Amino acid sequence: MKDRSLLMIPGPIEFAPEVLRAMGMATTSHVAPNFIEVFATALDRLREVFLAPNGQPFVVAGSGTLAMDMAAANLVEPGDKALVVNTGVFGDRFGEILERYGAQVTHARAPRPGSVPEPGDVEAMLEDGHFRVMTVTQVDTSTGVAADVKGLAAMGREHDVLVVVDGVCSVAGEELRQDAWGVDLALTASQKAIGVPPGLALLVAGPRAMEAFHSRSAPVVNYYADWSQWLPIMEAYEAREPSYFGTPPVNLIWALNTSLGLILGEGLEARFERHRQVSRAVKAAVAALGMTQVPVSGKIAANTLTAPRFPDGVDGSLLAHVKRAGVILAGGLHPEIKAEYFRIGHMGVVSGADVLATVGALEQGLAGVGYEFQPGAGLTAAQEVFCEA
Ligand code: PMP
Repeated sequence: MKDRSLLMIPGPIEFAPEVLRAMGMATTSHVAPNFIEVFATALDRLREVFLAPNGQPFVVAGSGTLAMDMAAANLVEPGDKALVVNTGVFGDRFGEILERYGAQVTHARAPRPGSVPEPGDVEAMLEDGHFRVMTVTQVDTSTGVAADVKGLAAMGREHDVLVVVDGVCSVAGEELRQDAWGVDLALTASQKAIGVPPGLALLVAGPRAMEAFHSRSAPVVNYYADWSQWLPIMEAYEAREPSYFGTPPVNLIWALNTSLGLILGEGLEARFERHRQVSRAVKAAVAALGMTQVPVSGKIAANTLTAPRFPDGVDGSLLAHVKRAGVILAGGLHPEIKAEYFRIGHMGVVSGADVLATVGALEQGLAGVGYEFQPGAGLTAAQEVFCEA
């Protein structure tokens, strides 16, 4: 049988056929006039998607980790203090990257996987810390926890800290209003809610972040990540002029422009709402099937993925059964609880039909491992969400 598995992991995700067609077209020169126009359009569309009209976008070949690396390399100087609001594995990663560039890193850690640090504790740390930069992971993909970016960014601004948001598992899925919320730099990668195959690091730096970069006293020590190399390139593309530093991933940028066009065509508000609805349906199904979730409360659960805990008597072998039923899900990632949960990604072009297929396969998988439940209970709960007036 043709492989028609549905890929429901928290990235890479299912991609729109138009985007995949753009990936498959004949590669143009990186200085071809039609490519220059597409790159320029994509850069401007990024401002719209990040809701950062005055931001400077950067599009560079690499994964989300490169986007984090670029943020740290360009904004931090040796000896700077950095505060990491840590809700999981990707907070740990940001801390390591910042340390690599000589920052003194303090973590505001969630007390346990699935929770968030108390806002009052973060505030107290900001009060005492004299931090140059604060990072927040909007959705930590290892826990399914969503941080309150709006509230944290406001706190950071009050203390004159540069606010950096890791939006790898959120941008174009979760509500993120970079400019209105005072986020100085937001970053993501192509393979998640932006809806393009893996390979692009995407950043939008606001005016304060660019100012901090321009007034550095020490040069950026990372050659490839240095905005001094990339800023003239981004500016040249927007001015519709040929330029070169490192060969851009031409097909990925054609695909990015296509996907950003689809995102803006749907409309950001509608897209945020669709992600909320899909998330409610998956979470209702998981609960109806007797499973709890890693986030300790619904209020801090992400809309881009769901992290159900395995019910008693069920382990990771469930996922092979679900795969046999046609849907690919992801295992746990957080080292402390890795074997206790799994992850369902639901971002990008995901539809209500995809959710029903996923919950159906999950039920078949649960039956396959001998779990006792009422078949159809999850499907009914999900369907109720979609059939709400
Ligand atoms: N941050 C978050 C929140 C992520 O989910 C990921 C990827 N899962 C990354 C950073 C790193 O991105 P990449 O794997 O593309 O390097």
